[in-house]
Amino acid sequence: MSLNHVRPWRDIYRRKSRQIMVGNVPVGGDAPIAVQTMTNTLTTDVAATVAQIQAAAEAGADIVRVSVPDEPSAKALKEIVRESPVPIVADIHFHYKRGIEAAEAGAACLRINPGNIGDEKRVKEVIKAARDHNCSIRIGVNAGSLEKHLLEKYAEPCPEAMVESGLEHIRILEDNDFHNFKISVKASDVFLSAAAYQGIAEATDAPIHLGITEAGGLVSGTIKSAIGLGNLLWMGIGDTIRVSLSADPVEEVKVGFEILKSLGLRHRGVNIISCPSCARQGFDVIKTVESLEHRLEHIKTPMSLSIIGCVVNGPGEALMTDVGFTGGGAGSGMVYLAGKASHKMSNDQMIDHIVEEVEKKAAEIDAAQEAAE
Ligand code: SF4
Repeated sequence: MSLNHVRPWRDIYRRKSRQIMVGNVPVGGDAPIAVQTMTNTLTTDVAATVAQIQAAAEAGADIVRVSVPDEPSAKALKEIVRESPVPIVADIHFHYKRGIEAAEAGAACLRINPGNIGDEKRVKEVIKAARDHNCSIRIGVNAGSLEKHLLEKYAEPCPEAMVESGLEHIRILEDNDFHNFKISVKASDVFLSAAAYQGIAEATDAPIHLGITEAGGLVSGTIKSAIGLGNLLWMGIGDTIRVSLSADPVEEVKVGFEILKSLGLRHRGVNIISCPSCARQGFDVIKTVESLEHRLEHIKTPMSLSIIGCVVNGPGEALMTDVGFTGGGAGSGMVYLAGKASHKMSNDQMIDHIVEEVEKKAAEIDAAQEAAE
């Protein structure tokens, strides 16, 4: 069993939401918080889009969203859905016909704002298509595209306007007896997003899709998302997340999982605990961690590994991890297994050795898990 024991001071009490299905992935209720990303290829380039979806799925994405801006994209979606290992959400803006086509093409969810796709008749047609094809809907309120009447009422995008927009869209779906939906209220501003999400979380029991929109590049966007999404998740709000970065979708998935892993909400792969290193380090911590991150990407089993430069913090951190290495001196360090000092290992063989120990431990955890099921 992993040493990550549950402790009361780290419990997060998730908001009670109802559960919907996005294809075969449950979202809401007590389902694991699903990680999403979005492709940035041309949807009409089926091979490139499928390759990106597969890479994202391999990195752990539970759901992937694909833009459907025109009719050829809706046609391509059918093939993409067929080849995708994960459910596909079709991103639709304004064109109600794309929504119908996407539902017919097998999308598991439509990201659409029912208030923005035309008159009541058109809205009803899209809802009917979603219902007929067992397709859920995500209402995607965005501070940057609030309805005119709300901007006139509130003068600027604000949490109240975003919540009101969300509730108006919800009402349209519920008036049509459609309840298979989730909702997001995104903004690029962390405070605005957080306040809007808290408001909508109180106003509905629909599952919530969390995101800080247009968060930025890999580093700045990661930090912004970690603060915004992290705080909401810590409050128990959020049933699925998408980290928006100006970066490869695989990076979005990795960052999403790291946020969830930091809060103990999802566990996947090796959680590496490492020190920043300093003059006391007994080996090159930074290069070693870089190498191990890469060499251990294939491990899906949740487990922990501490890589610490010296005995100041090494033994203490190793106590709480499945596998550990602490620099000692004279070109070697101590390997820890299940929190206990196990054996010495030379620095130049240590990376290969740690990879082997982690693989062995992962196999043990998997076998114990299987036996328990
Ligand atoms: S654990 Fe040791 S090597 Fe790492 S930062 Fe602390 S003192 Fe420096």
